[in-house]
Amino acid sequence: MNSYSLQMQPPQLIELSQLHQPNVVSTGLRLSFGGDQQQYQNQNLQNQQQHQHQQRQQNLVPSSTLFLSVVSDELATQIKSQREELDQFLQAQGKELRRTLAEKRNRHYHALLAAAEESVARRLREKEAEVEKATRRNAELEARAAQLSVEVQVWQAKARAQEATATSLQAQLQQAMIGCGAAAVTQDSRRGEEGIEGQAEDAESAYVDPERMVSSGPSCKACRTRVASVVLLPCRHLCLCTECDRVAQACPLCLAVRNSSVEVFLS
Ligand SMILES: [Zn+2]
Ligand SMILES: [Zn+2]
Repeated sequence: MNSYSLQMQPPQLIELSQLHQPNVVSTGLRLSFGGDQQQYQNQNLQNQQQHQHQQRQQNLVPSSTLFLSVVSDELATQIKSQREELDQFLQAQGKELRRTLAEKRNRHYHALLAAAEESVARRLREKEAEVEKATRRNAELEARAAQLSVEVQVWQAKARAQEATATSLQAQLQQAMIGCGAAAVTQDSRRGEEGIEGQAEDAESAYVDPERMVSSGPSCKACRTRVASVVLLPCRHLCLCTECDRVAQACPLCLAVRNSSVEVFLS
């Protein structure tokens, strides 16, 4: 058994050692056999080794060629399998890459869409605020217009009332002037009847105010010098000149509080 194992093991070791590291393994063999085995066995082994060495020399070339072919076949299959693995790996990587790219693209589109929606919503909110503001402003303007139309109606009513007042005042003035003219006529006729006796009285009253000479009509009841040409409201007395009208607070005839006044033209 031992010899058989010794016979069988060295060829493998030496064969491998010759392929890779011949010096180290051969030295180790020589040491191990020299220390452990007997001289006879050593000689026998040496003989066997020589014999085997000759056989190896004869069988070395074909076995190495066979081994190389086997190795090359194994290498080819390994290369083939590795190439297939590489192809699968590359395909898987490409698939993964495409999937990742698609996901990133989708995310990018979603982000873009979200940003666009947000900006559109913001602009919509701004426009709604503007519309609301414009509506409020429009309502304010409409309210202002309604108020102005009411004021216009009020002023028109006031103007109509003033016109009516002025018309009635004109009628009263005409009646008063007619009455004054009639009184003057009767006074003149009476004076004509009195004759010479009345001349002295006429001479006494010959002096008249110069302002009163240039204009005719009732005199102002406040200053008693200028002609009364202002009608006070609401009592409607024609009793003040324009100068006294500026400072008068009440009517000098009836003492009614002055509300407003209207200047009239007698001719
Ligand atoms: Zn006056
Ligand atoms: Zn009055």
